[in-house]
Amino acid sequence: MARNSFPTGNTRVLGIVGDPIEQVLAPTLWSELCSKNGFDIVCIPMHVRPADLKNFLDGARGWKNLEGLIVTVPHKIEALKLVTVATARAHATGAVNSIRPDGQGGWIGDMLDGGGFLAAYEDRIRPVRGQRVLVVGSGGVGAAIALALGEAGASEVDVSDVNASRAHALAARLGAHGVASKSVDPTAKGYDLVVNASPAGMRPEDPLPIDLDGATSDLAVADVVTKPADTRLLLAATALGCPVQGGLQMAEAQIPLQAEFFDLPPGDWRLSSSNSH
Ligand code: NAD
Repeated sequence: MARNSFPTGNTRVLGIVGDPIEQVLAPTLWSELCSKNGFDIVCIPMHVRPADLKNFLDGARGWKNLEGLIVTVPHKIEALKLVTVATARAHATGAVNSIRPDGQGGWIGDMLDGGGFLAAYEDRIRPVRGQRVLVVGSGGVGAAIALALGEAGASEVDVSDVNASRAHALAARLGAHGVASKSVDPTAKGYDLVVNASPAGMRPEDPLPIDLDGATSDLAVADVVTKPADTRLLLAATALGCPVQGGLQMAEAQIPLQAEFFDLPPGDWRLSSSNSH
């Protein structure tokens, strides 16, 4: 499987489809990991506007050397409507972030953001079972994380959002899936784990998305933001002695799940540069 000249006519393709696309890390990370494993696969960015997504996916269904597509902003919700089959967790979240051709002219979709978060958390910090959790940000990623934590046995998964109706809707959806949940203010007191699943923290001037007042070192604090790796929330939590998890760890933990979904051969999917948090 080792490759000399690359790419060749045998090279297979993974894609990441989004709009904008310049910010994505997947082409670099996946191409490096495939190379490290000796897999003849390249990951390429695919800049597709929302109005063109349906035509794009209709055309790409016949792409014979395509392993699959990672779906990113703003296509995750629309792509669920365009796949032939989606997993129960994708339907529960209302979105897909990974799709692959089904070999019969259709697409299979899954939502792996929540699984990535959960795997990183349980691997690095502690089991979720019995924990009281607050998830701040009730969009696609917040919903995926909240559902995954609920399924993993969190005793309560409360939610919050600057858009209160989104938080109410997510709490109701979690309740319908048997997860105890209510919409609350973003205050850490009383929780075992708080998660920022909103974009707050990407810009230096962003306010802290979660009030850590009164928090002790028993509290675990996680952030989905990948840039910067050390968000203000994580720095504040670290100063309190709390265990923390960053967005890069969630992203890294998702890679083996996606590799399995794309039906790639077993490999070493650890990033050589994975040393943050
Ligand atoms: P989205 O737009 O669907 O949802 C974001 C939600 O956050 C919205 O409901 C918005 O109202 C809410 N929000 C914004 N600012 C807030 C604040 N200060 N307090 C509370 N709520 C606030 O977006 P999404 O797809 O859910 O993505 C959210 C973030 O997750 C993005 O920053 C994205 O880059 C990141 N992300 C990380 C990973 C990873 O692996 N680490 C994977 C996917 C997405």
